[in-house]
Amino acid sequence: MAVPFYLHDLDPEAADAVAEVIASPFLTSGKVGREVEDRLRDFFGIEHALLVNSWTNGAVATLLALGVGPGDEVIVPAMTFIASANVAGLVGARPVFVDVDPETLLVRPEAVAAAVTPRTRAVIPVHLYGRMCDLPGLRAALAPRDDIAIIEDAAHCFEGLRDGDPPGRHAEAAIFSFYATKNVTCGEGGAVITRDPELAARLARTRLHGMSELAIDRMRDARYQHWDMLCLGTKANLPDLLAALLPPQIARVRAQLDRREALAARYEAAFADSPLRLPGPVAGCLDARHLFCIHVPPACRDQAILALNARGIGVTVNYRAVPTLTYYREAYGYGPEDFPVSRHWGEGTLSLPLYPRLTEAQQDEVIAAVLEDVVPLAQRNLP
Ligand SMILES: *Cc1c(COP(=O)(O)O)cnc(C)c1O
Repeated sequence: MAVPFYLHDLDPEAADAVAEVIASPFLTSGKVGREVEDRLRDFFGIEHALLVNSWTNGAVATLLALGVGPGDEVIVPAMTFIASANVAGLVGARPVFVDVDPETLLVRPEAVAAAVTPRTRAVIPVHLYGRMCDLPGLRAALAPRDDIAIIEDAAHCFEGLRDGDPPGRHAEAAIFSFYATKNVTCGEGGAVITRDPELAARLARTRLHGMSELAIDRMRDARYQHWDMLCLGTKANLPDLLAALLPPQIARVRAQLDRREALAARYEAAFADSPLRLPGPVAGCLDARHLFCIHVPPACRDQAILALNARGIGVTVNYRAVPTLTYYREAYGYGPEDFPVSRHWGEGTLSLPLYPRLTEAQQDEVIAAVLEDVVPLAQRNLP
């Protein structure tokens, strides 16, 4: 492929960190994981950070820790990755979708407030593509319901800010993904951060079977310590083997963001006078620039993908609206009129390569392909 959709930038020294874990007695939930949790606490300026083995399992553990389950509702945007909604169903709760803002593609606080019912227990705002939702606004719109937890889906937004605040400041918890294509990655992984000591203590158990002690603590003082099971938990702890890959990336993520920003600005300049639609600006945001998405008239989106693929350019779709997918249509009876903004964006969007290792020459190839193949398609299909 001339320009792959994504390339990670782990360096060869990353293997040394893994080798050190292999040489130690603890392959999982040991010293390395704890050190990475300390780094995350420093990075986000927050009291508690817990590594997990995926965003999804971290969110399940968080919902369990908050006691969200059958009979409860969890509000999620219709424009997101399926996992944001799936986690509600996985704990037996009902995902309640809200449409997104047509300019920013983020949830609007008023739209969330309008979807609240007596059963609402949590909201999962998604910092789509790296731009943060208005969390103080969301909290204000939810008042006086202080029994509704805000759980930020920060899978796209490790290094982003809004009005100077990182994820975790205005919510019960924020959850990151370290999946293979995310800005910080260890293949599979994630982290939950929270300011709430009680939630952190419950999470420490719900991420590990509901057990009272980690393996490393069960062996303290070189003798076996009994553990108890205090609640129902899932298996969401991150192996040290993977955690070892994270510290160098956390150290350079801000510098990498400059590179992402420069690449994104080149795309934006190249497409400024074209009929392609881009997500509109979000006031006060430092964009984590996770994905670069464009929108073409839905009638030609799939042709546009084929044209780029034919030139060896990797593209993806982030995302088709969740309630339009078969499971959600069948399980909840959603139809074509529901969530029109998310549906329309999802039917016309495609994501271009954007990662620090993308060279300008490669990016120029992508830009030329878009201008030569995709723009004419878009022009012919304009409504
Ligand atoms: C990747 C992603 C997730 C899921 O992350 P995993 O670590 O793969 O579970 C959730 N939400 C969004 C918005 C994502 O992009």
